[in-house]
Amino acid sequence: MPSYEYVKCTDLKQAFDLLSSREQAYPLAGGTDLMVGMRGGKFTARLLVDLKDLEELKILREDEKGITVGAAVILNEIAAYEPILKNIPILAQGAHSVGSYSIRNRGTLAGNICNASPAADTAAPLYCLGASIVIAGTGGQRTVPVEEFFTGPGKTDLKKGELVHSVLVPKPYPQEKGVYIKASRTGSVDLATVGVAVQRWGDKVKIAVGAVAPTPVRALAVEEAVNEKGEKDWARAAKLVHESISPITDLRGSRDYRYHIAEVLVRRGLEQTMGV
Ligand SMILES: Cc1cc2nc3c(=O)[nH]c(=O)nc-3n(C[C@H](O)[C@H](O)[C@H](O)COP(=O)(O)OP(=O)(O)OC[C@H]3O[C@@H](n4cnc5c(N)ncnc54)[C@H](O)[C@@H]3O)c2cc1C
Repeated sequence: MPSYEYVKCTDLKQAFDLLSSREQAYPLAGGTDLMVGMRGGKFTARLLVDLKDLEELKILREDEKGITVGAAVILNEIAAYEPILKNIPILAQGAHSVGSYSIRNRGTLAGNICNASPAADTAAPLYCLGASIVIAGTGGQRTVPVEEFFTGPGKTDLKKGELVHSVLVPKPYPQEKGVYIKASRTGSVDLATVGVAVQRWGDKVKIAVGAVAPTPVRALAVEEAVNEKGEKDWARAAKLVHESISPITDLRGSRDYRYHIAEVLVRRGLEQTMGV
């Protein structure tokens, strides 16, 4: 692995300055994607800008706006945070699905979405919850809906010098059940072959699917059938997920298998959230 410089930031401005002025400078959170990617040649970093000690990014709080998760909060904390478990358990399920206990003890929600894998386990729950991504840089802060944050495999809406400050899950929260269901090869530490989040909102539903397209996607045709046309046959509704996805074949599964399993998981998600 080529040599690189490392700076443990003591304030956010230092991070913005380094990220905007230096080439091949990467924010470092838990490093569970970044270090693996550097070793494998996916990233050639000349500078790692460590964000983990920035107090401002360690915020995990609930207030009148909703629940804010700072970029340095680890996934184990998120999965155990009482307001998340009580109000938006689907996010706790997504966070808990990532890797192993030790990976979640370093890995962050921000790192999970900034890595921008279509299989990121927290993405589909965030889509169903209408989360916003708070982005910060030398020019100030801006907020983008999570569905606009992912722009392609490994690509996000972040511009040079910017970083994710926090993720906001806004109020009102859904009052009903949500589930994140992940199919993977081993049932233990593995990325999703397909991941499906289904969140009931009153008598409506929101559905998002990961690992079946260049970014996580909403299953809009299924949502329309259930929410607008009153479809109650979940098996028939779930078939419509095919209209929203364009899976590829890779080491985790074939294209055809992904079409099939996405449909199965959407049906199960509808049964579990909307009733059998
Ligand atoms: C063994 C193993 C198993 C895994 N299993 C899973 C799994 O089951 N599901 C899953 O979804 N993922 C999995 N992962 C991937 C990884 O653990 C998660 O994506 C994790 O959430 C990444 O968080 P991190 O803090 O370690 O990110 P890092 O590795 O620190 O960063 C990831 C990327 O985001 C950038 N970044 C980090 N923070 C910021 C920020 N605040 N602003 C802008 N850019 C930022 C970095 O520069 C880098 O490009 C696994 C990884 C390993 C090694």
